[in-house]
Amino acid sequence: GLITADTHYLVVGLGATGLSCVRFLREQGKRVSVIDSREQPPGLAEMAQAWPEVPVYTGGFDEAVIATADVLVMSPGVPLATPVIAAAIERGARITSDIELFSRAFEGRKVLITGSNAKSTVTSWLADMASLAKASFVVGGNLGQPALTLLDQEADLAILELSSFQLELLPAMNADVATVLNVSEDHLDRYPSFEAYHQAKQRVYHGCRHAVFNREDALTTPLVSNDVPTTSFGLDAPDPNQFGLIEKDGVEWLARGNDAWLPISEVALPGRHNLANALACLALGDAIRLPRVAMLESLRGFKGLPHRCELVATVDGVRYVNDSKGTNVGATLAAVDGLGREAPGRLILLVGGQGKDADFTALAEPVRTLCKTVFAYGEDQAVLADALGDTTHKVATMEEALQQASDLAEAGDTILLSPACASFDQFRNFEHRGDAFRTWVEGRL
Ligand code: ADP
Repeated sequence: GLITADTHYLVVGLGATGLSCVRFLREQGKRVSVIDSREQPPGLAEMAQAWPEVPVYTGGFDEAVIATADVLVMSPGVPLATPVIAAAIERGARITSDIELFSRAFEGRKVLITGSNAKSTVTSWLADMASLAKASFVVGGNLGQPALTLLDQEADLAILELSSFQLELLPAMNADVATVLNVSEDHLDRYPSFEAYHQAKQRVYHGCRHAVFNREDALTTPLVSNDVPTTSFGLDAPDPNQFGLIEKDGVEWLARGNDAWLPISEVALPGRHNLANALACLALGDAIRLPRVAMLESLRGFKGLPHRCELVATVDGVRYVNDSKGTNVGATLAAVDGLGREAPGRLILLVGGQGKDADFTALAEPVRTLCKTVFAYGEDQAVLADALGDTTHKVATMEEALQQASDLAEAGDTILLSPACASFDQFRNFEHRGDAFRTWVEGRL
């Protein structure tokens, strides 16, 4: 129905994002309640302190409470298919999210970035470019600060990273520039089908004024009308005005059309997957008219984020690379390909954890051609070993894998942790896993 002064907003799911929604809605004088299935959701103490007048219902999704809501402000952590939520939608409750609230309130330009992998890398890299260009911008969303808290700062431009769960909740976003970087199998446990996952990703393009896509990944091709300008990126040679790689005087360059911009050797981040990420950033930055000099300066200087193919240390000539953020097959493929091609046969790969029902067979061929050996640990070690082939050793823990890998490694080898799995069987999260890797490696220094 119509939004009135009496409209009852129910924030579904607390935590940092839920809190940001409560604050935003209360500042507008809206009637707000909060519900969370957990007994002790994060943010409970802040709620009681800052908004004692806001009712908070915990320990379940009480149908009677949900029945009183006109608008459900959904946390991306709660699937829309949750029966009580689906029933509420059925009876006419409106659905919104922090991203939609942000999008209505923010008056500047918006760049929206999603994809199965490389979101955080591209988002922070583009932010680095914007910063070197001295643009007035904010950056956040799925990465860093919840979107609504970005409204506290004055800015002409917002760079937002969106997860596929956030995308499910989007209306037409009317982004100035939107991109799906890549689409690979992940989180299939939460989607009824691959098509449903693909469709969720496509939502980022709805209503956009410029679409940037990966021409080597057909699933990213924007399904938008012909009058929306598009720019593609890819590691092949680009058509005019598109971004790609060209060869000039025997070296490869990042290029726009035939126009050579920067030799690839000058890009600070390692691996060919990061060249794809660099080209995505150039396409996005070009679409929002960032000056080329600032973008190139960033390509030369940007050092990347922790836990993403991060060189932790070199010990006795062996490189230890922490790619704990590689939590799905696509990410691990990129890391193996990106680092393995630099020195085929010198890569020792550590995979393991919870496989989320993924199909790991796509890793078998690159592992065979690029890796010296593989260690699989944790809950789904047997599933991984079956898919990855004979050279895979099964061990209980990541530390055991590290120990055996380092016993076996020779100078010039790289030991890569890129698990292709979630970490929750043995760690709190991917950061905890990456920190454990770093701690182990630093123990050898
Ligand atoms: P996201 O925010 O989407 O999870 P990140 O930037 O944190 O992405 O990187 C996650 C992982 O994705 C990295 O650890 C890396 O192995 C992998 N990755 C990086 N770039 C690419 C790419 N262009 N294609 C596929 N995988 C990539």
